[in-house]
Amino acid sequence: MSISKSHCEGKENPLMQYVLNHSMREHPVLTKLRLRTMEDSMNGMMVACEQSQFMANLARLIKAKKALEIGVYTGYNTLNIALALPDDGVMVACDISETYTNIAKPFWKEAEVENKIDLRIQPALKTLDDLLAAGQAETFDFVFIDADKVNYDSYFEKSLQLMRKGGIITIDNVLWGGKVLNPSPDDADTVAIDKLNKKLHKDTRISLSMLTVGDGLTVAVKL
Ligand code: SAM
Ligand code: CA
Repeated sequence: MSISKSHCEGKENPLMQYVLNHSMREHPVLTKLRLRTMEDSMNGMMVACEQSQFMANLARLIKAKKALEIGVYTGYNTLNIALALPDDGVMVACDISETYTNIAKPFWKEAEVENKIDLRIQPALKTLDDLLAAGQAETFDFVFIDADKVNYDSYFEKSLQLMRKGGIITIDNVLWGGKVLNPSPDDADTVAIDKLNKKLHKDTRISLSMLTVGDGLTVAVKL
């Protein structure tokens, strides 16, 4: 996980600082939301700013109209992706916490994207099942999986059903601070992440990249 005072710093790495100085184009409301998030005691959960910008670029690249975020927290990445969607785009945002997502709402409103964001407060597995039951299989363009790690495999499988061919599934924390190198059997989160990483490497339903941005990001394209 990328943790720093502002979540958008080079963490005493001059080359990383150079990358940020020469690539970040953070929308002013994203900056405000990031700084507000830094006041929260759980701010280590926030996505790295350069990773979020990369995912918004991916969404633009494939002209995404329908996106899904599994694990919203204070909504930084949800806002970034919503800004990349067209005016009639939709971002289904899944979380179980009103407390975290209430922090997001005024910023989504200020950035004038709140009409694109369909926030669903219930376990994400239930929301994904609801979407499938509502006939939305193969209609989504982009998903970011970033909630509880033990459910990662189920999130991936259900997201794959919801994705159209050519849609992109991104999965966060696939390196889990390096713990995937030597997963302890009683560490359920690491075991789940490592198991999914191994499965996806062989999965012929997708093409695959694993990036070292942030805490590790898998980018899978549905074939
Ligand atoms: N994607 C966010 C960002 O861009 O900053 C960070 C998400 S944070 C790492 C994980 C979130 O998943 C938390 O807000 C937590 O409340 C939520 N969460 C945990 N278990 C969940 C579940 N079963 N269903 C939905 N959300 C869940
Ligand atoms: Ca994460």
